[in-house]
Amino acid sequence: MSSNSESPITRIVAVTNQKGGVGKTTTTINLAASLARRNKRVLLVDLDPQGNASTGLGIEYDQRNVGTYAALMQEAAPADLPQETQFENLSIITANNELAGAEIEMIADERREYRLRDALRALEGQYDIILIDCPPSLGLLTLNALVASDSVLVPLQCEFFALEGISQLVRTIDRVRRAFNADLHLEGIILTMYDRRNNLSELVAQDARGFFGEQVFETIIPRNIRISEAQSHGTPVLDYDARSTGAAAYLALADELLTKTGNGKKA
Ligand code: ADP
Ligand code: MG
Repeated sequence: MSSNSESPITRIVAVTNQKGGVGKTTTTINLAASLARRNKRVLLVDLDPQGNASTGLGIEYDQRNVGTYAALMQEAAPADLPQETQFENLSIITANNELAGAEIEMIADERREYRLRDALRALEGQYDIILIDCPPSLGLLTLNALVASDSVLVPLQCEFFALEGISQLVRTIDRVRRAFNADLHLEGIILTMYDRRNNLSELVAQDARGFFGEQVFETIIPRNIRISEAQSHGTPVLDYDARSTGAAAYLALADELLTKTGNGKKA
């Protein structure tokens, strides 16, 4: 396989943690924007019925194309799924309310675990990296993300009970690897909402490094008000306040991921 710039192989990464409020959506948006700033062609897939990633990139409800629901239901051609955002190199497949019913609607369908994979495979080569923002559960939507992906990024909030549920997530990844997707692996753990004035944050970071070793990214995402403000303005923090600690951290995370993955390309 040639590795020229016209036909790189797309790396697909699921951002997952079955806990809500740990920074999945925030990380997906800001990592995607930072990778795009590094001239990667990035596609964000909003797989959470809440649609926070779509809103967080400034795409109001009535501006959304057919989205991930149509992809799962095979109601649209894959080429019609992505839409451009106002940010260079960054496209999105949006989520809408219908997505909330998708798990039950798919329950008896053949190949229900492969729907997202099939849609994203059809887009392969058009992007360098695809990031999937998962809902806070380990149901059929997240299963679709894990079956479609090469690897998994797990945001871990530096708070009480951060590691709770992580072994269940790791077991789930193992099961998916055995049953559906032999190549799936853990790309890394991302420590988020780190507060250096709070000893607990440091304890959680130490715990995570003790447990996962080098699989924890060196870059730590600080708790930074500019990050959450940016989200409510429908923009990545990089465009909201480029000099904030949050913007610097997500750029550093993108660079670390690119280094770790040999410039983002799939092996
Ligand atoms: P999840 O997608 O895992 O449910 P979110 O990314 O939506 O979590 O984050 C939960 C809340 O925390 C959001 O309101 C978000 O703006 C806020 N948040 C996330 N990361 C940070 C951060 N590093 N600093 C400050 N606020 C953050
Ligand atoms: Mg979310």
